[in-house]
Amino acid sequence: MLGMTIIYVHGGVSGLSKPDVVSLDAFVAAGAAEDGHLDAVERAIVALEDDPRFNAGYGSVLNIDGALEMDAGIASGATGALGGVANVTVRHPITLARRVMEGTPHALVTGAGAQALGHDLEHLNDTSVEERRRWDDATAAGSLDPGSYGSPEHVDTVGAIALDRHGRLAAGSSTGGVFGKLPGRVGDAPIFGAGIYASASAAVLGTGVGEVFLGSLAAGRAGALIEQGVSPQEACEKVLELLGHRSHATAGLLALNHRGEVGAAYRGGSWAVAGPDGAHQAPRIG
Ligand code: ASP
Repeated sequence: MLGMTIIYVHGGVSGLSKPDVVSLDAFVAAGAAEDGHLDAVERAIVALEDDPRFNAGYGSVLNIDGALEMDAGIASGATGALGGVANVTVRHPITLARRVMEGTPHALVTGAGAQALGHDLEHLNDTSVEERRRWDDATAAGSLDPGSYGSPEHVDTVGAIALDRHGRLAAGSSTGGVFGKLPGRVGDAPIFGAGIYASASAAVLGTGVGEVFLGSLAAGRAGALIEQGVSPQEACEKVLELLGHRSHATAGLLALNHRGEVGAAYRGGSWAVAGPDGAHQAPRIG
């Protein structure tokens, strides 16, 4: 048996070089205080979803029509259970994803059906004042069109991976998606193997332009390498290099193995990651 819950959280890879990388220590502490692997991941992400600085829950980016459509996914490597939601407007999509995992026979529920499952959860009528202003300004400037989709300033999201004292790994991800996306678009956050992966020996998260992860099954590839004995750091770097052959879009990978060893690497401007020892500096590749 291991000690307390080990958790790593991230605040979303960004295409922009942000001078002040935000401290994530409070979110690590919130998750680490939980005993169970899924509770740790959900607790940390709920706190991130409440913080308007992040593209998840309250603070989510808006789609091209100015509407909120959030995605989230959660998975237990110990049991193989997983749940995801897409195109929802509840304040805590990660809680709704867990409900899909534990309360339905499904792995992914979208739109009105997912909203109905979360009828008793708090709903969001709008994003933060800052994100609404950002959409208003971009619309007024005529810069929100599908041709600018995925540009550096359009991505960042949140996620957490945890290993509890029973040796159970979990991964969770929550996002408003990519700024200016088309209505109905689903990203990689709730898609197992693309933006999220968990098994008995590996938990992996992706962040960045979701289409890149959907087209490469990046999280599953990194997970498979770790299961073969590759270190999480090497696995993240190898898969990120592979992604670089296909696209230069902003992307990050974060992974944890069953020994509590972490790995992280990204392409883009900045990425905040933190764990038990505080801020974790992921190497920038490419
Ligand atoms: N991967 C998320 C998505 O494509 C966005 C992000 O990570 O910034 O929906």
